[in-house]
Amino acid sequence: MTDQINPVKVQKMQKMQKINGVRGMNDLLPADAAQWAHLENVLRDLTRAYGYEFLRTPIVEATAVFQRGIGEVTDIVEKEMYSFEDRLNGEQLTLRPEGTAALVRSVVENNLLYEGPKRLWYTGPMFRHERPQRGRYRQFHQFGIEALGFAGPEIDAEIILMGQRLWDELGLIGVRLEINSLGQANERAEHRAALVTYFEKNATQLDEDSQRRLVTNPLRILDSKNLAMQELIEGAPKLLDFLGEESLKHFDAVQALLKANNIPCKINPRLVRGLDYYNLTVFEWITEELGAQGTIAGGGRYDPLIERMGGKAAPACGWAMGMERVLELMKVSGSLPEPSAQCDVFVLHQGGETLTAAVIVAERMRSAGIDVILFCSPDGQSASFKSQMKKADSSGAAYAVIIGPDELSKNEAQLKDLRGSGQQRAIPLDGVVEAVIDAIVGATE
Ligand code: ATP
Ligand code: MG
Repeated sequence: MTDQINPVKVQKMQKMQKINGVRGMNDLLPADAAQWAHLENVLRDLTRAYGYEFLRTPIVEATAVFQRGIGEVTDIVEKEMYSFEDRLNGEQLTLRPEGTAALVRSVVENNLLYEGPKRLWYTGPMFRHERPQRGRYRQFHQFGIEALGFAGPEIDAEIILMGQRLWDELGLIGVRLEINSLGQANERAEHRAALVTYFEKNATQLDEDSQRRLVTNPLRILDSKNLAMQELIEGAPKLLDFLGEESLKHFDAVQALLKANNIPCKINPRLVRGLDYYNLTVFEWITEELGAQGTIAGGGRYDPLIERMGGKAAPACGWAMGMERVLELMKVSGSLPEPSAQCDVFVLHQGGETLTAAVIVAERMRSAGIDVILFCSPDGQSASFKSQMKKADSSGAAYAVIIGPDELSKNEAQLKDLRGSGQQRAIPLDGVVEAVIDAIVGATE
């Protein structure tokens, strides 16, 4: 008997079991919503100031988009992607790990460059299977801009100026710009040959990862974070020494434009970036304030990508920023905005007819553009004005509108100032909207 399964008991146990979120994928809680909204507002203003248009792509793409668009021999494609097979039709799909490849896929598919170059931006969640730690998550958010169809150095400078303006606007401290040029494919090939010769000569000093990269993508060895290899990397042939006249001219022009706008930058010859598709200018914004995850944004020129994604060849450049890291740096910089009041008015009542009147008055105020929270009972019973007033106080509302049976019988309501003077006065029930607007306008004058 005791072994028999009791369905009621089983159901109860299932209800009690808590299901947690996926490791490395975080909830954005209401307490942080105002800060995210602030950052998003600043970003929207920034894109408008430079004439960039919003393009929103799906979160899921064919895996081939990233294999081709990011490169097979990259950390992202080799080990960080959430890829799966669609159970119904066998398609190979991937949760996007970054924005550029998908954006270019969309631009090519929708023929967006038909009428000429385009300035675009995107934002949204990205997914990478990495070890979660401060500033590194499995679902995180990026904002990015891409300028497609422009070949000249002025657009490299423009997107860097946008970044600098953004950090200033957000009040970030301690952000520095590092910049490098990766030249063109033939220049990289010469450098690569020299690099392979150098590393082959010193093969015993390479770690396992780097020995593999020596065959697949030797440039990435320069990106290694292995401390034991730093001296070896320091002595390796520098790509900058292999750049031809055109590449150097482009690089110099970008730097001159930055200098003319008082943007300090440091040339870092070892900066190669993780993604395969870059050429010419690459750059990163780095801070020492966030520990190991100090890169808040990075990008560069990726002229070969559009053609590689099946489009008509066109130059392009852009950058992407990690929103969590930027918010964290805003916190460290003390520049996060104070959470602002949630609403203008909190409405109190005593149930029954006063509730009906309260709902009508609340709706009328909302139609007039006033933000209103109506007291709703958690247990279906009417609550004392004292306990409702506590809720009104903690709601952040500036005013309370009180409709009790006495007020209703006189066709009135009480309007109470919750923040300033604390004054309370009777107002006509059909004049609540006007009285509240007068009070709000009066308080801001
Ligand atoms: P990292 O060297 O930190 O792994 P990355 O080179 O892989 O960065 P990009 O692909 O250039 O990063 O992405 C642009 C920005 O997105 C990074 O500079 C960073 O701010 C942010 N970012 C990248 N991966 C993560 C992650 N797992 N969690 C949070 N933010 C991230
Ligand atoms: Mg990474």
